[in-house]
Amino acid sequence: MHELDTPTFRLAVAQFDQAAEAMGLDPNLRERLKYPQRSLVVSIPVRMDDGRVQVFTGYRVQHDTSRGPSKGGIRYHSDVSLGEVAALAMWMTWKCALADLPYGGAKGGVTVNPKQLTSGELQRLTRRYAAEILPIIGPDKDVPAPDVGTDAQVMAWIMDTYSQQVGYAVPGVVTGKPLSIGGSLGREEATGRGVVYVTLEALRHLDLDIQKATVAIQGFGNVGAHTARIMQECGARVIAVSDVGGGIYNPKGLDIPLLLSRYKEAGTPLGETKLGDALSNEELLQLDCTVLVPAALSEQITGRNASMLRCKILAEGANGPTTLEADRIVQDKGIFVIPDILANSGGVIVSYFEWVQDAQRFFWKASDIQERLHDLMTAAFQRTLQFAETRRTSMRMAALMSGIDKVAQAHQHRGLYP
Ligand code: GLU
Repeated sequence: MHELDTPTFRLAVAQFDQAAEAMGLDPNLRERLKYPQRSLVVSIPVRMDDGRVQVFTGYRVQHDTSRGPSKGGIRYHSDVSLGEVAALAMWMTWKCALADLPYGGAKGGVTVNPKQLTSGELQRLTRRYAAEILPIIGPDKDVPAPDVGTDAQVMAWIMDTYSQQVGYAVPGVVTGKPLSIGGSLGREEATGRGVVYVTLEALRHLDLDIQKATVAIQGFGNVGAHTARIMQECGARVIAVSDVGGGIYNPKGLDIPLLLSRYKEAGTPLGETKLGDALSNEELLQLDCTVLVPAALSEQITGRNASMLRCKILAEGANGPTTLEADRIVQDKGIFVIPDILANSGGVIVSYFEWVQDAQRFFWKASDIQERLHDLMTAAFQRTLQFAETRRTSMRMAALMSGIDKVAQAHQHRGLYP
């Protein structure tokens, strides 16, 4: 499986091995769960606006389907590879099991920088990618959702492409859709809201006051921006945010609504919003703050910078932001880690609500969604904390071990086919 061998896949497998070892997982199952159940690699020829045909590479990886249809986002990014998608698919399996959702884990991706495409090119790329992965997706098989570089519009194109093929509207084939075609209230902000809910639990556990908390957020995309807004609404002071181009810092607290209107609506680069001093992504990670939220890409906190972290709580909004080496350093420093598969599970939890609403053709109020998200996330947090305390292990190991254990039980009960 050398084509999977990338740093992100190695990180996911190393975490899995550590947890499997600690819980004494059946070696036969361990070998199976290390690798995806099914991986599809597709070529995506796209007619570009200038008339040329450019061929992109896309992936859809289903890591495990023992507990239900597989679930996971689709990432459009220039660094997407089979190994990265396989790692993200494995994390989705543990994430869904930890949150008690009746899903397995999957992930998709296309190696492309979507910012370099026109809207027409993006639509043609998405529709052809959807057509190529069509045989293995479906509301009862595998349900994609947004991830880095994709949004509700991309989901709408996938939903339409699938629906055109079968001949009738199938809203449940993807989640994270626009409301007009069966999307759910609260889905867009769900990951950020979930990050805030578990951070509130962690603050309470550590006897810290949200009103006195300072927050630094790396990444100002869907997850980072909603996290910043909701953190501030809950009373925290958001002192720094960043994107790929660097960040801004204001010790008195950034005015997030104003920042969002300048950055998201007017398209002003963060550094030119005049709301704080410039700082680099590296400097942001090292800020003295109560809560640090990595909400960008994987492997940002490494053996090189982990010892410089000065936060009390690390709430992982991104998938896989902390390397194995950094994880040890962070634990030794006594930082309270809310691991990715717990911290960012709000997205897939509300995706589950969307899929249930689509199946029932019955839609819920925003307040119902927030309340149910809160219930599921705080319950998952408390279960993980209790597991960590009784087994004297880290929050990350506790989360992984509980997720893996549920998957192992499903495999045990179903048995090996044939
Ligand atoms: N892409 C998100 C994640 O990494 C959401 C996946 C989903 O909603 O299926 O968890």
